[in-house]
Amino acid sequence: MNKTRSHVVIVVGAGPAGMAVTSALAKAGHEVIILNRDIKFGGLAEYGIFPAKLKLRGGLKKQYWALLEQPNVHYFGNVSVGIGKDLTVEEVRGLGASAVVFTVGAQGTKAIGVEGDTAQGVYHAKDVVYHFNRLPGYADRPFEMGNHVVVIGAGDVMVDIAHWLIRYKKIERVTAVVRRGPAERKYNPKEIRAICANMDLDRIKQEFDRIRERLIAVGQSPDLVLKELLDEFTTCEPKVSETKMDFRFLASPKRILVGDNHRVRGLELEDNKLERKGDDVVAVGLKRFEEFPCDAVIFAVGDKVDETLGLPYKGGMYVTNPHKTGNEPDDAMFQAYDESAGQVVEGVFLAGWARKASEGLVGVAKRDGDWCAEVVERYLATKTPGEDISSVLEKLRQKLREHKSYPVTVQGLRVIEAAERAHPGDPTCIGEFKFASNHEMIRVIEQASF
Ligand SMILES: Cc1cc2nc3c(=O)[nH]c(=O)nc-3n(C[C@H](O)[C@H](O)[C@H](O)COP(=O)(O)OP(=O)(O)OC[C@H]3O[C@@H](n4cnc5c(N)ncnc54)[C@H](O)[C@@H]3O)c2cc1C
Repeated sequence: MNKTRSHVVIVVGAGPAGMAVTSALAKAGHEVIILNRDIKFGGLAEYGIFPAKLKLRGGLKKQYWALLEQPNVHYFGNVSVGIGKDLTVEEVRGLGASAVVFTVGAQGTKAIGVEGDTAQGVYHAKDVVYHFNRLPGYADRPFEMGNHVVVIGAGDVMVDIAHWLIRYKKIERVTAVVRRGPAERKYNPKEIRAICANMDLDRIKQEFDRIRERLIAVGQSPDLVLKELLDEFTTCEPKVSETKMDFRFLASPKRILVGDNHRVRGLELEDNKLERKGDDVVAVGLKRFEEFPCDAVIFAVGDKVDETLGLPYKGGMYVTNPHKTGNEPDDAMFQAYDESAGQVVEGVFLAGWARKASEGLVGVAKRDGDWCAEVVERYLATKTPGEDISSVLEKLRQKLREHKSYPVTVQGLRVIEAAERAHPGDPTCIGEFKFASNHEMIRVIEQASF
């Protein structure tokens, strides 16, 4: 790319999607400024992917470090964008960059919306995942689990949480409560290997007997589905606890049962049947209710985006341009859109889980970032480059000083990385050692003499 056509682009969020956008635009010769809420980069690659998956996490970290070492990539961690945060969306847009790409992930929390959901012992999966991944703000918060935990959901996040409960918390029992049937389970069979040694096979077989007729009613063979489910339990990681895991299929949580001290004592479940709807199978409530005792309930049912960010928002998502352009990838899908004005938000783009909450693995977020970068490139090609990088950086630093923010640059990240590696370890930490608070990370930066 001819340097005179080089633009300044701001990417908000340094997860897999933001890093993909940054990589593509930096490679094309543009100057990229990254603003990231967390001190560390990586998003859910740092604070979501199970901490014991060292190979996957290590590989991503290596790639991201190499990217941040590029001279045309400028990283500012510990900078949150949003209403009442370090910078508002309008302030970011006013810094003079040619485009701003939001890759902030899905930070909003879906309302649980059942009676009793404020009881102690009711948690959102994201918070629990952030807790055991030691995200500052969550690492030190108590998450009381008790002996028997219900996890609502049938996807990979349910499995990750069961993994933590079984192998690290070593509680008595984990029950996955699943709205539809066993054939509709969503988790990756590879992921179940971490916990299948703890499966309570007798209970699972009894559960199949209980729902047998309801599976047959939609043309499913209970014996075949059971065989397929059990076949996935053949290559299990060694058992390290006596925790038992089972499933409760065809059940929807209707009410949290609250006991003394406002703590969970159980769940009211409604029995469901299955009905065919086109190619899909849906759950339909049977109005048969049952009390199911447990000590904690974790809802692993996906997330939505953070509506307080300040971008046009509707129904759990940021609004994107409804008018398709016919390009491949379609520019409209990545353009923020103001419905009240009936036009795109000029120069503002979305990618990754910020565009489609809780959609897919790292590879999907990366591909979304790559596509978004193509769309941004097309947009930049129609524009004359605006302010140069030093002027945009100066304005950014000035604003952050005014707001008394404490941005952490790559230099600071290197200090944290070295201190974490040198740390003797911490028994509460799974995988590699991580500081549990911003305060500790900032202290090591301040103690280091640059
Ligand atoms: C529990 C769990 C386990 C997973 N395990 C795997 C796995 O094993 N393998 C796999 O491939 N995928 C896994 N995934 C999926 C993968 O993590 C996601 O696909 C991917 O991280 C989404 O990338 P993203 O960049 O869109 O969002 P995120 O990873 O969420 O990144 C968002 C970034 O934006 C920043 N941010 C947020 N709000 C703001 C703000 N207001 N201002 C500035 N910055 C902000 C955050 O600090 C973060 O760095 C898992 C996901 C979860 C939830």
